Amino acid sequence: MPLKSGSPQILLKQLRETLAEPLESQQRLDKIVDVIAKNMSADVCSFYVLRDDRKLELFATFGLKREAVHMTTLQLGEGLVGLIGERAKPINLDNASEHPSFAYRPETGEEKLNAFLGVPVLRAGQMLGVLVVQNKEKRIYSEDETEAMLTTATILAEMLSTSEFENLIRPGVDIDLRRPRTIEGIGFSEGIALGKVVLHDPRVVVTSFVADNIEYELERLNKALCSMRMSIDDLLNRSDMQISSTHREILESYRMFAHDRGWERRIKEAIKGGLTAEAGVERVQNDTRARMLRQSDPYIRDRLHDLDDLANRLLRTLTDNNISEKPHILPDRAIIVARNMGPAELLDYDRNKLVAIVLEEGAITSHVAIVARSLGIVAVGQTDSVVSLCENGDDIIVDGSDGVVHLRPNADVETAYIDKLELTTKRLKRYASLRKRSAITKDGHKITLLHNSGLVADMQALAETGANGIGLFRTELQFMIASKLPRINEQVELYSRAMDMAKGKEITFRLLDIGGDKVVPYMRSAAEENPAMGWRSLRLALDRPGLIRTQIRALLLASKGRELKILVPMVSETIEFKQVRKVVDKECARLKKLGQKIPEKIELGAMIEVPSLLFELDQLLPEVDFISIGSNDLVQFLTASDRANPRVANNYDPIALPRLRAFKLIVDSAKKYNINVTMCGELAGRPIEALALLSIGMTRLSMGPSSIGPIKELILSLELDPIKKQILDLLSNGANNITVRELLANNIEQQNLPI
Ligand code: PEP
Ligand code: MG
Repeated sequence: MPLKSGSPQILLKQLRETLAEPLESQQRLDKIVDVIAKNMSADVCSFYVLRDDRKLELFATFGLKREAVHMTTLQLGEGLVGLIGERAKPINLDNASEHPSFAYRPETGEEKLNAFLGVPVLRAGQMLGVLVVQNKEKRIYSEDETEAMLTTATILAEMLSTSEFENLIRPGVDIDLRRPRTIEGIGFSEGIALGKVVLHDPRVVVTSFVADNIEYELERLNKALCSMRMSIDDLLNRSDMQISSTHREILESYRMFAHDRGWERRIKEAIKGGLTAEAGVERVQNDTRARMLRQSDPYIRDRLHDLDDLANRLLRTLTDNNISEKPHILPDRAIIVARNMGPAELLDYDRNKLVAIVLEEGAITSHVAIVARSLGIVAVGQTDSVVSLCENGDDIIVDGSDGVVHLRPNADVETAYIDKLELTTKRLKRYASLRKRSAITKDGHKITLLHNSGLVADMQALAETGANGIGLFRTELQFMIASKLPRINEQVELYSRAMDMAKGKEITFRLLDIGGDKVVPYMRSAAEENPAMGWRSLRLALDRPGLIRTQIRALLLASKGRELKILVPMVSETIEFKQVRKVVDKECARLKKLGQKIPEKIELGAMIEVPSLLFELDQLLPEVDFISIGSNDLVQFLTASDRANPRVANNYDPIALPRLRAFKLIVDSAKKYNINVTMCGELAGRPIEALALLSIGMTRLSMGPSSIGPIKELILSLELDPIKKQILDLLSNGANNITVRELLANNIEQQNLPI
């Protein structure tokens, strides 16, 4: 295609030459606005950069007074330039002075200019500046011209993201791209970590922007689109793809976008404007991200996220995976930032370097959060747009206790956190000094504190916290992180190592609890509308008896004669529990016959997670050796609110009277039958919630290892009887304008408890 003088392609060619010239930064910018103005026959071309004080500063101009450069500033929203900065959308007018937002700046000498075209300068959807051309004559700029401006803006954005203009910035201000940000989220795992950002899905780095040959670039795009569409179709047609799984839904929506003509057309227009195929995709993706960041409707945001993912796939194909490599070797104090991830991906990272994770999505009872907690990795989730706000290597502070992330923190915030960290270290030392003490309240109530565990890596914490044992060993974690079904000998190895590491302390192995949100990728299951209430856990195990038979056999073999405690998850009816008892008895008999050692004592317990069991405790309890309350599931079913759905998961207080009454009913019944009851849901590790549980007579709490110290410290300073009395009164006489939580908070204050 021959290049027309004054065409966008010529403009890009000239820009490329300018970029290659050995010029000072200001000279280069001056030349760029000069080239744009001449190419577009504009009387004025100006480039504004958004500063960290949210003002747009004139960085270069052709046509306005030179003295105004670095002097003139506009607030976001002020004048037409500020309006573009605020909305991240181009404005094209034939008579700018008639627009209600027009702001006249005498110092720029901006006289009698009618036509105005301004475009946002965006990177990863973030507003970085505004590029403007103006003409005296009244005219509307053509689509080609708008396209050329947007293309130029993409290049300017890349320049801004490097340190190219560092020396042009006055002391005391910075460009907005490097502005410190505070992002509120939800604390998934306690603690504070200071470190450097490592993006879980590194961005594709586009290094070549200006096309040499447009036809060739269009062809490259077509090929890449074709291969991407084929790979999505292949995935959808795979025989193991479920008919309506979430994964399938995502792929369906990818397919829809991958065939979207509008998207393809916009990329092609960008290429025809003179960009390489990858730069064209990047430009369109920038617009998408900008829209995404300004959308509040979660459905539309999800769809835009899909489109964003798709653009990344396309970029990877086009650049031959030219991604800023996923660091095999993490930097020290690495903080992984991701949209979301599974527990297996988290475990792939080097534990010696990784100090925290930040997720845009997730939920506090999701499994990645559970694994983070059990490994003592600080975690914050539900941090809106964090991935597009940060770059690899940015400084970041993660506060898992307050659920806040500070990106590129300023010196004051950093100092405050270093102080806070020192306090935390002191607190941890204090907790360590309590390690050997028993958890007994001041008025003599002895409490058993146990860990929730599931990995060899988190068993090590037992020696550090001095807990009484493992109250819940989630055996499914081994299944979730493996790439194929763990064989019996692998299971035996894990269980016997865990028993060795428990060093004679009690350890309760929970039978496989998969399904629901605990996805085991290599096990196919039919699509379900409501996986949390679907074919999961014990239901799945009873339908596939081979699975629990093998697991029970592995547990018996691993015990090598030692005492064994097995916990059955998601029991809905006593009869199901009895079926498991039969399998255990059969396996024991088989081992005996084979002359193998069987455990000196086997205890079989049931988890109370399904509300209907509350109405058959008198039938269940005589059958079991112990019980455990899984409050994560029990509360989700009692309140009919999905624990994995952030929109409803926190809507109901788990220690409000109806839930507390349910817990008390279980505790009282267990007492009647003289069996142990342990609380092993996440509630047990939270101080106020733990206090509520203690006040209804619960004496065994199982929690993430990092909660043992704070809960033990609380117990040691506590007079429990007066609180018990008040809570029991509230439970039987109803609330008198006070919630359980408020009542406990008052007591915490009165007794000056360490919370
Ligand atoms: C629970 O439901 O409270 C529980 C401990 O089990 P999980 O969180 O593994 O479902
Ligand atoms: Mg559960």
